[in-house]
Amino acid sequence: MTTIPAKLQLVHERIARACAQVRRDVNEVTLLAVSKTFGPDVVREASAAGQKAFGENYIQEAVEKIDLLRDLPLEWHCIGPIQSNKTRLVAAHFDWAHTVDRLKIAQRLSEQRPPELPALQVCLQVNIDGGANKSGVAPAEALELAREVARLPRLKLRGLMTIPEPQDDPAAQKAVHLRAAALFDELRDAGLAIDTLSMGMTADLEAAVAAGSTMVRIGSAIFGERPARP
Ligand SMILES: *Cc1c(COP(=O)(O)O)cnc(C)c1O
Repeated sequence: MTTIPAKLQLVHERIARACAQVRRDVNEVTLLAVSKTFGPDVVREASAAGQKAFGENYIQEAVEKIDLLRDLPLEWHCIGPIQSNKTRLVAAHFDWAHTVDRLKIAQRLSEQRPPELPALQVCLQVNIDGGANKSGVAPAEALELAREVARLPRLKLRGLMTIPEPQDDPAAQKAVHLRAAALFDELRDAGLAIDTLSMGMTADLEAAVAAGSTMVRIGSAIFGERPARP
C-alpha cells in the first residue's frame, strides 16, 4: 500500500511536471489537500509530511476535525457549499472560503468573522460551464459580485474557484479551465487585486495547471478513494 507521504510526493511530482510542460514556476501552484470524509489521524500524517493547507466540504465534519487538530499549524479551506445557517461556523473556524457565490453569504461571513481573527480569505465560485443546478455565480455576473465582496471589511477577496463537469478528454478539460483563466484576467484588468485561481482536482490537475491554476484541490490522489457518504 502506498503511504500518504509517498502519495503526496507523487502529487508534487505531477504538479512539477505539469508546470515544466508549460514553463511555469512550480512555486506558483499551491497544493490544497482535500481531506473530506477522512479522519484527523490522516490529516496528521499528511501534516507530518509537510502538507499545510487542507480543504473540507462538510462544515460540521470539518469543525470537529479542526478542533481536534488545533495543535498543528494548519490552514483550513472551506470548499463545500455554504448555506446561510452555516456562515457563522465557517467564519469562526476556517482561514479560507472558496465557495462564495452570493453577496448575502459574503455579507454574513464578513459580519460574523470574529474580530480576533485576520480577514477571511475568499474566492468566488464561478459556474464556468453553465451546468444546470450548479452552484457558482454566472461568469457574466462575476465582476460585479467581486467588486461588492472586495468592499466587505472582514473578507479579503483572493480570486476565483471552479468545479467544472468531469470530462475525460484533457483538451476539453483545458478549454473550460482557460475560460476561467480568461475571466480571472478580466477581473484583474478591471483593477481587482486578486491572485488565486482555485481549479483542478485529481482527474484534471495537469489541464488546470496548463491553463493557469494557482491552487489545485487534490483528494483521492493523496488519501485514496473516499467512502460513499450515507
Ligand atoms: C472532493 C473535492 C475535491 C477533490 O477531489 P478529488 O477528485 O478527490 O481530487 C476538490 N474540490 C472540491 C470542491 C471537492 O468537493
